[in-house]
Amino acid sequence: MAAVVQTHERECAVCTNDFNTPKILPCGHLLCRQCVISWIKSKSDPGCPLCTCPIIDNEDNSSQSSANVVDALPTDNVMEAIVENASILVKSDMCTVCDDVTAEYICMQCFEKMCPSCMKIHRKMVVSRSHDVESVSTVTPERLAASRPALCADHVTEKAEFVCVDHNLAICTPCFSNKHRACLDVKSLDEKMKSAEDAIGSLKEKLIKAEGKLKQAIHNLNVRVQTADVTEQQNMALVDKTCDRLQSMVDDCRKELKKLISDSVSKFKKSLCDVQSELDKRLGKVTSHKHLVTRATTVRPRPALIHAAQTLTDRVNSLDLSDKVEAELLVTPSSEITKYCDDVERDIGDELMSIREIVVVEVSSLFNLSHV
Ligand SMILES: [Zn+2]
Ligand SMILES: [Zn+2]
Ligand SMILES: [Zn+2]
Ligand SMILES: [Zn+2]
Ligand SMILES: [Zn+2]
Ligand SMILES: [Zn+2]
Repeated sequence: MAAVVQTHERECAVCTNDFNTPKILPCGHLLCRQCVISWIKSKSDPGCPLCTCPIIDNEDNSSQSSANVVDALPTDNVMEAIVENASILVKSDMCTVCDDVTAEYICMQCFEKMCPSCMKIHRKMVVSRSHDVESVSTVTPERLAASRPALCADHVTEKAEFVCVDHNLAICTPCFSNKHRACLDVKSLDEKMKSAEDAIGSLKEKLIKAEGKLKQAIHNLNVRVQTADVTEQQNMALVDKTCDRLQSMVDDCRKELKKLISDSVSKFKKSLCDVQSELDKRLGKVTSHKHLVTRATTVRPRPALIHAAQTLTDRVNSLDLSDKVEAELLVTPSSEITKYCDDVERDIGDELMSIREIVVVEVSSLFNLSHV
């Protein structure tokens, strides 16, 4: 059977030796009585060296000496018994009787270590015939502690049969009839052991249940943290995706508006260009006829001038001398631009609205998850 308490669990965290009067700190960790005292003295704000929980309540105990404070902490009697029995197991490897021979056995009743020959004698002797002798290598401190009989507080050689609750002592039968006859509450040791075992058993059950509930609560909390992480990632991705889409909508809008403007301006410029070429043509005809008329006035040949006057008059009268041409007006695409902008604005508004709804609902649902 494996040891219930591993070797390192018998060691004090301060002195690293096996516990000497192990005191139970408020957090449930153990330290030797003397180690707690020196630990408290060495620190201004002493916490458990293993978990930093406060060892003493400063406000309550500031006036008391540290020894008194430490003595008020309960002692772990079970650990004390295990340490005591562990020390018996490791103390000496030699047979108690013939101390130059290695002990291979231990009597679970006398706690004597024996060599094989002494063991044989022990098994034959009438007083020890019924004793349970085991191999040293298989006995654990716990089993040794459990097999140890309770002894009378006054007669360490007598077995205790009773417990005087009034004096808080285990006592033998003679002590019961002599010294504790007047005591009001004396119970049989077996009966007290049974009720102590029951009490410890129900404590264990209670603590196992509480431990399970706390572990479940911590697990649930971790699940909530993970859910929060996942929600965060998903919503961040959603925001990125939506903003990318909005960005491309804005980019498209920029492109489209510029196209509307440049299309409209090019159309206008083209119509101006058309007007100019019409005027250029008109100018060309006017200029060439001006040359004809100028030449006629300069040369004045007779009678050609008379014919020319008639011909040129008809021609000039047929010319379009006006400087007006029906030009197209500049049509600014304001209504198209307005409609386009309205559409984009509405689409962007819808996108923003829907992302807001999703993100607000998902993130707030994290807070509303039913409590553990
Ligand atoms: Zn210690
Ligand atoms: Zn602690
Ligand atoms: Zn024995
Ligand atoms: Zn021997
Ligand atoms: Zn006694
Ligand atoms: Zn008594």
